Amino acid sequence: MKPILNIENLTKIYGNVPSQTKALNGITFQVMPGEFLGIMGSSGSGKSTLLNCIATVIQPTGGSIQVEGVNLQALKGRTLADYRGKKVGYLFQNFELLDNLTGRENILLPTSLHGVSEAESSQRLKQLADYLEITDVLNKFPSKMSGGQRQRICIARALALKPEFIVCDEPVSALDVSIQAQIINLLKDIQEKYNLTYLFISHDLSVVEHISDTVGVMYLGNLVEYGATEDIFRNPLHPYTKALFSAIPVPDPTVKMNRIVLEGSIPSPANPPKGCKFHTRCAQCMEQCKTEVPEQREIEPGHFVVCHLYDQK
Ligand code: ADP
Repeated sequence: MKPILNIENLTKIYGNVPSQTKALNGITFQVMPGEFLGIMGSSGSGKSTLLNCIATVIQPTGGSIQVEGVNLQALKGRTLADYRGKKVGYLFQNFELLDNLTGRENILLPTSLHGVSEAESSQRLKQLADYLEITDVLNKFPSKMSGGQRQRICIARALALKPEFIVCDEPVSALDVSIQAQIINLLKDIQEKYNLTYLFISHDLSVVEHISDTVGVMYLGNLVEYGATEDIFRNPLHPYTKALFSAIPVPDPTVKMNRIVLEGSIPSPANPPKGCKFHTRCAQCMEQCKTEVPEQREIEPGHFVVCHLYDQK
């Protein structure tokens, strides 16, 4: 099987000299069709920038993004519009529905923009409304819907043109906790039903563990660890991933938590540390980490880490 998404050495720099921010610093990974990739990392690590590059909302500065072997930078005019509409669907944290349109009109916006016939659009709308249980809110305006209903309308809109993959930026974090689980399970169900590929950002580690097949961990514009969810959660390798996981609450009060508290705050991406970008906060920092940039290494099949601690292994 060939990857649906192939990202190589992707960089994104915002601004101009002297006030530049390197939001992505040479990201490389692949996603297979039908895979659910969860991306985690603290705020400012470049997660949204990565998704926005893949969704062609912004242009990367360097590197390449290939979707089914086609380089996104080469798409223009009609082919770019088709990619944006038909290949990729979007799901955001703040719903982004148009307030002056009903649920039905919001869902059908992409089909009308892409010239899908009325008969086909209505059939698709009916299928999605039945499946997502939103038939009774189709005539309502977003302001009259609950958060969960609005997010279901967004999901229907994202699926209206039968995309192959969906990019989700914190799609449940604005919802009540009780509704979050419903939407998460729905997204997983949709993945299986339509064989979709997902790129999913969440700061909620338990959500990522529950829903993802693979996980990428970002720190200051770098993908520091990447692999199967089970491997990463069972055996986190990067000191940053270990620190992230040490903060997950354990339900059993008799189990002692060994929380790893990181020194200081995240350095500014406008002025990142030399060498390994994590070295200023890493308890296992070695001399080499202060000057040399670590390389990506595969430690077990499909499990990659970028850290000097694994240079000899
Ligand atoms: P995350 O999604 O992990 O919180 P972002 O991708 O939003 O991270 O941001 C990564 C870095 O890029 C941050 O330092 C942020 O301030 C900066 N950044 C994001 N968008 C812009 C922009 N449009 N202009 C300038 N800097 C930006």
